[in-house]
Amino acid sequence: MDIAFRIPKPAAVEVRDLQVQLGGTPVLRGVNLRIEAGRMVALIGPNGSGKTTLLRCLLGLQVPHSGSVRLLQEGPPNPSLLRRIGYVPQRLQLDPSFMLTVREFLAIRRPVTATWFWRPSRQIDEQLHSAVAEMDVTRLLDRPVAGLSGGQLQRVLICSSLLNEPELLLLDEPTAGVDTPGEADFYELIAEVHRRRGLTVVLVSHDLSMVYRHASRVYALNGVICCEGAPEEVMNAESLKQAYGIHFTPYHHHHHHPHSHGGHGH
Ligand code: ADP
Repeated sequence: MDIAFRIPKPAAVEVRDLQVQLGGTPVLRGVNLRIEAGRMVALIGPNGSGKTTLLRCLLGLQVPHSGSVRLLQEGPPNPSLLRRIGYVPQRLQLDPSFMLTVREFLAIRRPVTATWFWRPSRQIDEQLHSAVAEMDVTRLLDRPVAGLSGGQLQRVLICSSLLNEPELLLLDEPTAGVDTPGEADFYELIAEVHRRRGLTVVLVSHDLSMVYRHASRVYALNGVICCEGAPEEVMNAESLKQAYGIHFTPYHHHHHHPHSHGGHGH
């Protein structure tokens, strides 16, 4: 037990000196990042700081100018590694003519791998049921996907990414389409999935109070990782100023001063 505490946990994500230019502009300017397996961490940073670009590099969708990405202790993103990773993009534009119900959508999103065919169908059903229950989408199963609210769609997308039993889940602004009262419950669901499954979760989020509550480590990106640490270390006015370049009072202070409005220092 004692020894286990001293050995660093393996990294689910390791990024070294990652540089990306888009349209001639440097977007990532030497990003270094190590995310321990099994953690729920947050990636924060102002708009345009490169958060989505970094996720795209992790998924192999963006080829870096230089530097390296190593996933799940294996190597750079490749199709077999990506099957072990769940990704929910910030916004999925669905054509209103997309006629599938949630049940049908989840059925076609079931993983098709060589090993899949050897699993008994009861096991497949169990996986589907547990993901559906975890993301609380049982009542949505017969609804058309195109008619869901932003928050409902996000829950269905996370549910579908859980069908692969991912070891790493990347969520890009998961509450972008969720109404404010629903946000806390939404993060609670994700935190519960993290606790139950013990997978690594990387949240890209603007919601600093939720980050404070749920992430065990925070990385602030602004072209580079300008600070990282436990939420109480990173989420203070000075390091947020470094990350956001503005005076920014962390939201969690508002719990103690409900009438303060210091959060928007533009
Ligand atoms: P974030 O997710 O933190 O808001 P992004 O990674 O989406 O940041 O974008 C980083 C920067 O790269 C932004 O300034 C954006 O305008 C720019 N950018 C994104 N995609 C392209 C592109 N295809 N061509 C040129 N610039 C881009």
